[in-house]
Amino acid sequence: ADSRVINFGAGPSALPVSILEEAGKGLLNFEGTGMGIAEISHRSKEFSAYISTVEAQIRDQLSVPPTHSILFLQGGGTGQFSAVVLNMLARHRLLHPDLPEEARVLDYVLTGSWSAAAAKEARRLAGGATVNVAVDARTLSADGKSFDRIPPHDTYAFSSDPALIYYCENETVSGVQFSHDESAPESFPFDRLPKNSLLPLVGDYSSSFMSRPIPRLADHAIIYAGAQKNLGPAGLTIVIVRQDCIVDVDAAAKLGAIPVPIGYAYKTFAEQKSMPNTPPVFAVYVTGLVLKRNAELGGVAYYEAVNKRKQEKVYKVLREGEGKGLLKGHVKPGSGSWMNVVFEVLGEGAEARFLAGAEAKGMKGLKGHRSVGGIRVSLYNAITEEQTDSLVDYIREFLNQPP
Ligand code: PMP
Repeated sequence: ADSRVINFGAGPSALPVSILEEAGKGLLNFEGTGMGIAEISHRSKEFSAYISTVEAQIRDQLSVPPTHSILFLQGGGTGQFSAVVLNMLARHRLLHPDLPEEARVLDYVLTGSWSAAAAKEARRLAGGATVNVAVDARTLSADGKSFDRIPPHDTYAFSSDPALIYYCENETVSGVQFSHDESAPESFPFDRLPKNSLLPLVGDYSSSFMSRPIPRLADHAIIYAGAQKNLGPAGLTIVIVRQDCIVDVDAAAKLGAIPVPIGYAYKTFAEQKSMPNTPPVFAVYVTGLVLKRNAELGGVAYYEAVNKRKQEKVYKVLREGEGKGLLKGHVKPGSGSWMNVVFEVLGEGAEARFLAGAEAKGMKGLKGHRSVGGIRVSLYNAITEEQTDSLVDYIREFLNQPP
């Protein structure tokens, strides 16, 4: 553990050392079975019991109401780009079998490259249905092509009865996140949504899941997240789905809906306790260890408090650097992500110098995404406040160094 660096990478990302050590033991001997977690049958009573406790932890820590099921799938966030379209179009078909195709609408809120990627997949899969962009944040940026803000509420145009309304709560690449303070202009525009008691609202929480409570979780049709940022290894995709959205996709297909691949049909997973096939056992295992530790620490309320302080410190030093003309934030203040802070280091060769200096101090994973450039600091749950302080100290030192 002494050889480890501070890993500010965007995902897969840091996990607590204590968890990795425990997981190592589980790889040799899972729960006293004499078999490792990667070796034991997923149908064994030990694993079946384990996966139920993982589900119970998520339900408890996020206060998931009984109206919603928690499913474990594979395929990552990208798999859900497809799954949400197909399952929700099937639901819409069952609700409105005779609607002309083009009158079936999927509403997308575009605030960054991940929501844009999801909308692109919807266009591929939606057949004759219409993909409507409810708002595109790029149109509000100075150059017309940057995802650098959450749009104000009056800019959203939702359809009246869409098959889904899609948004990405935290845009990992652009570093843009909805505020969870509902009085903030950067909050999600719940007030603008169609007045439908069973809203088809779909939220991609891939990079903020479990970092703080989910606002109005009960109003969502689907919330999903890959495990690989805040919870564990890649391979596990967590889907929280309201039961009216777990539909008989075969009945919908008979009415003309697009068939849903069996590995992406929520109903298959809901009926078979998330195990119609072999789940990603190791990822489920480590996620369970992390959730148990989270519960001991105080759950999402604990992480919300710590994560709030972490990002405040990083944005504070970023604003200092802006004051000196040495740094430039990518995102408009108010729209900045708690999980991924994106900025530029200004000046010839300055970014390389910044990264080399950080690496010399054992801090890695700070290079921004290739599409945006600059620096990206990811502050997921496993990054401690002390580690954040080390980075902030380094940035301050960098700002005071003559080039
Ligand atoms: N959505 C968001 C917000 C993400 O950050 C990512 C991955 N970084 C994805 C979707 C795609 O997820 P995956 O790589 O698990 O397919």
